[in-house]
Amino acid sequence: MVFGVGSPTADLMFVGEAPGFHEDKQGIPFVGQAGKLLDKLLGGIGLERSQVYICNVLKCRPPGNRDPVPDEKEACEPYLFRQVELIQPKVIATLGNHATKQLSGKETGITRVHGQEQRLKVGSLEVLLYPLYHPAAALYTPAMLTVLEQDFARLPELLGREVAPPVAAAPPLVEVAAEPAVQLGLF
Ligand code: URA
Repeated sequence: MVFGVGSPTADLMFVGEAPGFHEDKQGIPFVGQAGKLLDKLLGGIGLERSQVYICNVLKCRPPGNRDPVPDEKEACEPYLFRQVELIQPKVIATLGNHATKQLSGKETGITRVHGQEQRLKVGSLEVLLYPLYHPAAALYTPAMLTVLEQDFARLPELLGREVAPPVAAAPPLVEVAAEPAVQLGLF
């Protein structure tokens, strides 16, 4: 099982998809190539791993690294929500489609919502959800890496931002148009 790693009082929490081969071997999330990129991106905003909390939607490696299936996501969801409750982050940066959909409760894909923070409640906790491209996808697509770096650069600003309770009379958030039927795995 690969549960999570980092500061128990982190303001910033990253949620990825599922452990891969190296994570499964070491019991630590994001220690393979995608993890090295995540470390580098963190370094770019003056943070290191020990200052944030990192976990995944799935706590175990899916056989053959296939995509998580609904049953698995459902089985792991209470653990993820409890992690959020315990860490009490200000910002949850979801990495890729699976984490973004799991925590937003919406089917809108990462291509549409990356870099757009949204205020929401996870259990009783108010957080800013900040969807980002998955580093594994960015490893092989330079254009996506550029976008990921740009989105990452806004994290310090978001962390400095207080999360106020929603105002009853506030105008509704603009809904993003429905997602096309075809969903790509990580992006
Ligand atoms: N990709 C993920 O989504 N999580 C990991 O822990 C490693 C790679």
